[in-house]
This record gives sequence, C-alpha cells and structure tokens, in this order.
Amino acid sequence: MTDRRHDFYLLTPGPLTVPPEIKAEMLSDRSPNAEAHQALTKRIRDYMLEICNGTETHVCVPIQGSATYGIEAGLHTLVPRDAKILILENGYYGGRLREVAGGSGFQIVSLNLPMMPLPTAQDIEAALDADESITHILLCHAETGTGILNPIEAIADVAKRRGKKLLIDAVASFGGFKIDVAALDAEAVFCSPNKCLESVPGVALVIAKKSSLEASEKRSPSVVLDLHAQWKFLEATGCWRWTPPTHVVGALGKACERHKAEGMTARAARYRSSWRRLVDGMRQRGFKTLLPDEAAAPIIATFYDPEDPAYSFEAFYEAMSRRGLVIFPGRLTAAGTFRIGIMGDINETDISFILETIDESLAEIGVRTDGGAR
Ligand SMILES: *Cc1c(COP(=O)(O)O)cnc(C)c1O
Repeated sequence: MTDRRHDFYLLTPGPLTVPPEIKAEMLSDRSPNAEAHQALTKRIRDYMLEICNGTETHVCVPIQGSATYGIEAGLHTLVPRDAKILILENGYYGGRLREVAGGSGFQIVSLNLPMMPLPTAQDIEAALDADESITHILLCHAETGTGILNPIEAIADVAKRRGKKLLIDAVASFGGFKIDVAALDAEAVFCSPNKCLESVPGVALVIAKKSSLEASEKRSPSVVLDLHAQWKFLEATGCWRWTPPTHVVGALGKACERHKAEGMTARAARYRSSWRRLVDGMRQRGFKTLLPDEAAAPIIATFYDPEDPAYSFEAFYEAMSRRGLVIFPGRLTAAGTFRIGIMGDINETDISFILETIDESLAEIGVRTDGGAR
C-alpha cells in the first residue's frame, strides 16, 4: 500500500485537503486593527491582482463569507438596477448564478445549454441577437458541477465587440488557470481562497474593474454586501469594514506565499498529472468519465456510477469516509455520477493511495471492477 500523506483527504471541489503549514497559520490570534494585519490584507490584495494581470486596471476587494457572498456583493455593487443579465447555464453553478442574480432582483435571461458541446461565441451572439436589451453577461469559468472549462476568452471577445459587460465566476479556477482580467476587460472576476489557492474557506475575493467600482458608490441596496464601501474603507484605513475572519486571512496570506513559491504553471502541471493518473487509474478499473478529456478542467473528475447492482453511492461514500477520504456526489445536472477533486495538497503519490483505497472500499461493498492492472 502506498504511504498515506494525510490523515484526512477532502476530495471535494472545495473545501480541500489543506497543507499543514497553512493550517498552522490559524493557530495565531491576530488583531484586525494591527498594522501587521493591514499589511497582510494588502499583500493578499496585491498578489491576487499580480497573478491575473489586474494591477493596472482592477482592484481586489475581499469580503467576509463564502464565494457566493462575493458574487452577490459584486452584482449588487457593480450592476445597475436597470441592467439585464444574460446567464450562461450549462451546469449546476450556472444555475446558482441564476439563483443569486434572479434572487437579487435583477432582470435575467438564461441561456440554457447542454453540458456538451462547449458553448461557443456564436451561442452567445445568438442570445444577444434575440434580446437587444441585455447589458451584462455572467458565467462560470470552471463549471465544477460537471468539470468543464468554459471558453471565457472567446466569450469575452463577443462581450467586447457587442459592448456588454462581463462577470466571471472563476471561483474554482482562479490560481490554477491563466486568467488575464485586463485582456478580458472583465467587470468582475469572482474568486475564492479554498479552491486552486488551496486555503481555507471564509472570505470571498472579488477582482473588480477599478473604473466601474469607482462609479458604484451607494448603488448596493445591501449594507454589508457593498463592495464599494468595503473597498473605500480598506483604502482609507487599511482595515476591513467589519470584523474579518482573522485566522482565515492569516491562512490566505500563507497560501499566497505558497502559490508564489510553487508558481502557477507548476501548480497547473501538478493538477494535470494528478488528474491524469486518477482518470487513467479509474479507467483501468472500468470506470467511465462523464466528459471527454479535452473538455475537462483537470481539477476534478466526474465518473459514472458502476453498473454493478451491488453499487450505491451511499455505501461507497461510507466505506471511503471510514478510511478518511471524502468524495462528492454528482449534481442533478449530472445524475448517476460521482466526483473526485484533486485540488489541495494532493500529488501523484496521493492519487496512488486514493486508487488503492477505492479498490479496498469497492471490494468491501462487493462491487467488482475490471481493475488489477496497476
Ligand atoms: C465552489 C464553487 C463555488 C462556491 O461557492 P461557495 O459560496 O463557496 O459555496 C461557486 N462557483 C463554482 C464554480 C464553484 O466551484
């Protein structure tokens, strides 16, 4: 059996198996008003912009809460009330964007597309042709509900050509994939610490176009989900508007250092090799992937449930959990599947251990696999 590197493997699309040195940062108490915390916040905000080419054109505003809080705050703050938002819905998280935008009272138009083929510039053009009053386009980059990577550059080109504003849920992809906010001319890019940045949940990070944020004073109907107010307060005082999750901010500071030390390219390569070994290993065992490899974001893999009548997701999940490994069910948009995420402190050795644990768990619940070839 391959050596086990972690007591507990969280193989979901976030939160993740967090490296010990990041967890260790959370053992220190910090004063949110101290200069050290202000400097830490500034380092994080600057680093976020640095890795997406946003230093000249954008600002990074952190806000307390999970990633969705940042999305709702971004919509409230950056999108005028008379706007009409086209939402690309080709997976579970596209549906969540509709829920947040619709629930926040915006006029929305859903562009419902199947999971495959990937959406094209023509799909977006056609939706814009059908409704001239659309002003904004909102979509996911990595749609973790299925595991696809939406073509944001092609869609950004349409947005620019047609004069529409673009908002991207890059929650799952930011830090692991190249995103150039200046080239995309994105109104907002929504990010999270607990995906490719490999830290813990508790803050949302919004990369907002500076000129748009400057023009958004007092637009948000919400007091707390007001990015402009948070930004102005941060700029004026160095402090967050209300109590920040200080332990989470400490962890994120360390996560940025680790991200810089590893390098985005090396991190992406690590994900790809872990993902490759996982997908190949599962195929050797007779599993089939939901997606063709070309369409998949190599941070999560979605597999069809085995056909063996002895299989149930609950039994498999339970057998894996007892061994300290947590996997994730498929979403409604991909019923009859389960998912394994490989973001976090995971490398190819861990994948070998994970595959062996899958063998053990399936054997325990009486599911036969075609495996054997290791
Ligand atoms: C994980 C994820 C989110 C997460 O939202 P939370 O508010 O942190 O639960 C949003 N969008 C995508 C594409 C995700 O993968």
